[in-house]
Amino acid sequence: MKPLKNWDNLANGFTFKQIYPLGWGSLSGKPHLGLDKIAPSGTPIYMPFTGKVVATFGSESGYMATIYPAGKSIVIRLMHGKQAFKSGNFNEGDLIGYVGSTGASTSPHVHVDISQGSVNINNINNFINPATFDWGEGANMPDINAMNNLLNAHQNRLNELFTEDKKKGKIAVLISDVSNLKKNQTVSGMTKDEVKALILEVLKEAFK
Ligand SMILES: [Zn+2]
Repeated sequence: MKPLKNWDNLANGFTFKQIYPLGWGSLSGKPHLGLDKIAPSGTPIYMPFTGKVVATFGSESGYMATIYPAGKSIVIRLMHGKQAFKSGNFNEGDLIGYVGSTGASTSPHVHVDISQGSVNINNINNFINPATFDWGEGANMPDINAMNNLLNAHQNRLNELFTEDKKKGKIAVLISDVSNLKKNQTVSGMTKDEVKALILEVLKEAFK
C-alpha cells in the first residue's frame, strides 16, 4: 500500500529529477531523487510493505524512516517526520510515523524515495520514481503462490469441475498475471475485483 491515505488526492511538491536550487546547502544543484507529497502536519504514515524500519535523524532528512521491505530488493526512505519514526519490524499498514517539516523542509510534506538494492545517491539510475512505482495495489489479493499450489494440488478435482479447457486456461493466465495487476488495469478484460471474484469462485467450487 502507499504510505499515506488519500495519496492520489495529495499535491506533489518537488517531483522526481528536479534539481535543488542554489542555497540548499549540500543539496544545492543536486537532483531531487524522490517525490514530495504535501500533507498536513500530523498526517499518519503507514508501513507500505511488511518489513523492517530503521529510524534516524539527519540535518537534511529530519526524522527519517529507512524501510527494507521483506523479500524485495528495494529501500524506501520517508523523510521530514514530525517526530522520530518507529523502529523495528512491522506489518503492511502499521502506523510508523507522522508527516512533519523537520530537516531541509519549509512546510509539512513527506519526501519519498525508492532505490534498488541499496541507496546510492551518486547513481540516479538506482532510483525508482515513487510516482510510477507499483505500491503493491494487489497486496490485498489472495496469495498467488499459495493459490497456485492449491490449484496444482487439486488439479484432478479442477479437471472434473472445469471440463471447458477455455476456462481452465483463463484461470492459469489470470493467476500468473494477477501479481502484476495494478489498480485500474485489466487482464483478459477483467478488473482486479473481477479477477479476485473469479479465482475465489474457482477455489470455492474446488473445495465443495
Ligand atoms: Zn523531497
